[in-house]
Amino acid sequence: MAPEPPAPAAVPSSTAVPVRETMPVSGPRPAPASPLTPLPAAGSPSVAQGALARLLAGNERFAAGASVHPHQDAARRNAVAGEQAPFAAVVGCSDSRLPAELIFDCGLGDLFVVRTAGHTIGRETLGSVEYAVTVLRVPLVLVLGHHACGAVRAACDLVAAGTPISRNLRAVVDAIVPHARAAAEVDDVVELHVAATVRRLSAAVAGERCAFHGMVYDLRTGRVASAIDTVRKGLLTL
Ligand SMILES: [Zn+2]
Repeated sequence: MAPEPPAPAAVPSSTAVPVRETMPVSGPRPAPASPLTPLPAAGSPSVAQGALARLLAGNERFAAGASVHPHQDAARRNAVAGEQAPFAAVVGCSDSRLPAELIFDCGLGDLFVVRTAGHTIGRETLGSVEYAVTVLRVPLVLVLGHHACGAVRAACDLVAAGTPISRNLRAVVDAIVPHARAAAEVDDVVELHVAATVRRLSAAVAGERCAFHGMVYDLRTGRVASAIDTVRKGLLTL
């Protein structure tokens, strides 16, 4: 049998990233947000909180070098062959150092994963997330960016120096450029872009029983941290 992951601990309140007070504040300041950003009325925050706690517990195991690699054997493969019921969707960057199942210590059938360079959102991505929310009924969509993101750096270079870029790559970079104009450091832009992606997905994807949350992954420590404070503190230009 595949090992079951330990029961997740409560969601720590310390997952928020430090607030960059030097970042520009523009537009109206949003109302304070909970650690999750539930959709109105029919949302299911307790289920979403449980999904987030499970992700965080898996990430803690991974970062500590104590992964249990659950749900990766033949029994699990057979168990989910006929039907899937992932407990969360992850919309992340395609970076080779950001495989969701590894960094959250999950296995087959656990996560519905959508990855694009810089976790940029196009119609196919929106459709994929909507499928996860409306058909698979995941309670949580997690947007996952990471420090030193190459796509974000390309947007920063374009803003700073007009670095030439191909037409296809431009489609990726253009989605990040507004955030590259709002902050100077690449990792600050990453956080803005993650928060903006959360807002865009939550506004565009149909379904009322899902929460949307943003996190940033540290390539060196292996740990994720919430990016939601960038939204709460009104640092977002949306
Ligand atoms: Zn990236």
